[in-house]
Amino acid sequence: MAEQKQFEVLRWASLFLEKHDRESRVAEILLQHHLGVSRSQFFMLMQDQVPTDVADRFKKDIEAHVLTGVPVQHLMGYETFYGRDFTVNKHVLIPRPETEELVLHVIESAKDIEAEQLTIVDIGTGSGIIAITLALELPYSQVYATDISDDALAVARQNAAQLHADVTFLKGDFLQPVIDEKIRAHIIVSNPPYIAKSEALSISDTVKDFDPELALFAENNGLAAYEKIVDQAPAALQPKALLAFEIGHKQSEALHAIIHQTFPDSNVKTIKDIHKKNRIVSVKI
Ligand code: GLN
Repeated sequence: MAEQKQFEVLRWASLFLEKHDRESRVAEILLQHHLGVSRSQFFMLMQDQVPTDVADRFKKDIEAHVLTGVPVQHLMGYETFYGRDFTVNKHVLIPRPETEELVLHVIESAKDIEAEQLTIVDIGTGSGIIAITLALELPYSQVYATDISDDALAVARQNAAQLHADVTFLKGDFLQPVIDEKIRAHIIVSNPPYIAKSEALSISDTVKDFDPELALFAENNGLAAYEKIVDQAPAALQPKALLAFEIGHKQSEALHAIIHQTFPDSNVKTIKDIHKKNRIVSVKI
């Protein structure tokens, strides 16, 4: 096929995606990736010809996305989180923008904790985004991260190495390896699996078929991971500490109840995300 201009390639892809009920924004992200240009460069190059081999590779990816729902992040091999690129694959949850808000909350709350060196634990680290970002943004802290999946830990370790972050990774179930190592944290943070199994049918193929099941779903209406972590937390916390969780937007009340059972005197609050949905539960102990 003859070379096409960039805007023509983009228009073809956007229309093709729309026709198949996929987000047309995917076209822009993928084409930038295949051209190896930034977003601002991309908009200045609309009238340029796209080399045929680049256009062909791009079209193959667009077709694969339409056909199977494979996420762009898997096609590209990375996602940007808090301004840094993290390697992702089928073994880890793709980083979500909501989780940036959780990280920001922890960074801001860390200022209020008096300690010479903060000990921070990220539970169910997946690609490592939370632990690695905190280690880089709070360089005076000591950061640990746990996961039960060896495949996820391999991705997280690779990300920590690529981004030169000093994180200690521990394999195990939620806080168990932290308890075994007798680590006492000032901050425990987690974005655990929180989707109820009964909601599986309403989730798009891009998520359900590609994010690991272990990263998405939890028993007991999506609350099982919180119950486990809160149950283990007393053995892994400093006397004064912060717990910060990402939550599903309907889970705030249930999680408050779970926390109050174990920590009756704690100060628990819910914080909304930029879409005004309940997204973070933060606990001062
Ligand atoms: N902590 C990782 C993230 O926030 C993984 C979360 C998960 O697998 N549920 O992306």
